[in-house]
Amino acid sequence: MEVARQAIAEQRVDQAPELARRRKRRMLAPVINATGVLLHTNLGRAPVGIELAATYSNLELDLESGRRGSRQRAVGDLLATACGAEAAMVVNNCAGAVLLTLAALGAGRGVAVSRGEMVEIGGGFRIPDVMRQSGARLVEVGTTNRSRFSDYADALTDDDDLAMILKVHRSNYEIVGFTEDVDVSDLRELDVPIVADIGSGLLDSGCPWLSGPPPPWLADEPAARQTLRSGADLVLFSGDKLFGGPQAGIIAGRLDLVERCARHPLARALRPGDLVLWALQLTTVAYLDRRGADIPFWKMASTPVAELAERAAKICAAVDTGTVAPTVEAVPTEAVPGGGTLPTVTIPSYGLQLGGDVSEQLRERERPVVARVDQGLTLLDLRTVAPVDDDELVDALGTLAAGSR
Ligand SMILES: *Cc1c(COP(=O)(O)O)cnc(C)c1O
Repeated sequence: MEVARQAIAEQRVDQAPELARRRKRRMLAPVINATGVLLHTNLGRAPVGIELAATYSNLELDLESGRRGSRQRAVGDLLATACGAEAAMVVNNCAGAVLLTLAALGAGRGVAVSRGEMVEIGGGFRIPDVMRQSGARLVEVGTTNRSRFSDYADALTDDDDLAMILKVHRSNYEIVGFTEDVDVSDLRELDVPIVADIGSGLLDSGCPWLSGPPPPWLADEPAARQTLRSGADLVLFSGDKLFGGPQAGIIAGRLDLVERCARHPLARALRPGDLVLWALQLTTVAYLDRRGADIPFWKMASTPVAELAERAAKICAAVDTGTVAPTVEAVPTEAVPGGGTLPTVTIPSYGLQLGGDVSEQLRERERPVVARVDQGLTLLDLRTVAPVDDDELVDALGTLAAGSR
């Protein structure tokens, strides 16, 4: 409607349908992620869904006392239980969690960070810049490839006002060769709080929510529960990476420190809305009930390759490509966790390979299919496609085949 009005006002009536079509393409829409990147930043990272009619909620009402409550309370308590912390709170994203923690606990004081952990996460999140914004003073420790316990101990002796040690997970890069690093467990004997930004949001390295053992591709990814147990006073992580929930940042750990974060004025600016809290609560309860299969990310991540291969074969058989191109073939593929986590890791997978680059036609569909193009071939990886969408792929591939006849 609005597009039509504008076209009339600008005397471009003939262009109205095209303008409307383009406007619609820019709107948020469900897409099929056939890239094999489980946490695709361009596609909203972890897939989440909530079914909820328009309703009020007890967001900030304590139903027991009838008085005003905290929106952090319910989900915070669940998250604390899930990662074995005294307390937890939620902000907009992990970048917000780092900013708030530094501002609340470190403003005007020193914060020690290893030179090997001065990370940049995609989208311009750089530790030294965030530090400056928070008002904390960066105290650099060690060298790019080697940081020792004595470097941290010296920082504590040399700086007369060190607020904390910040450990930052090298989520999206690795340092190899002549390296040395200090674990949280070694630092705990120093008399200063340790805050660990683990980023990726793996809750527990034992993955008790899965029916099998932890997948091998998780390798040495740090987990919230184990990092706290090894001596971190706070852990910070994303809600929409390996946690598999909505975009959020979680601060979990010592009650007094979480409370200081919650009381800081920035907490109000960074607070999550109720839709996010609903989705986060759903995800956290699934963890507590050990229902990993109800967390879409974990369901996709842990699907056996044989199952994906079977689906690929079925889709292939169902597509009538006739005798002409494009050819559709079921092939083994390699999926990746994505989302700036586990940069060197691949997950065995299965998918469909098409001759030529047909990614644009697939994207133009009513329900866009986002594929991967590699060396002139189009690849649809089934690890990131929900089985209910297989029919949609059959239709998409059938349409391509018909189009090329
Ligand atoms: C991803 C990441 C962040 C940023 O998290 P967002 O939720 O995207 O804001 C911060 N720190 C680390 C170590 C990360 O991996």
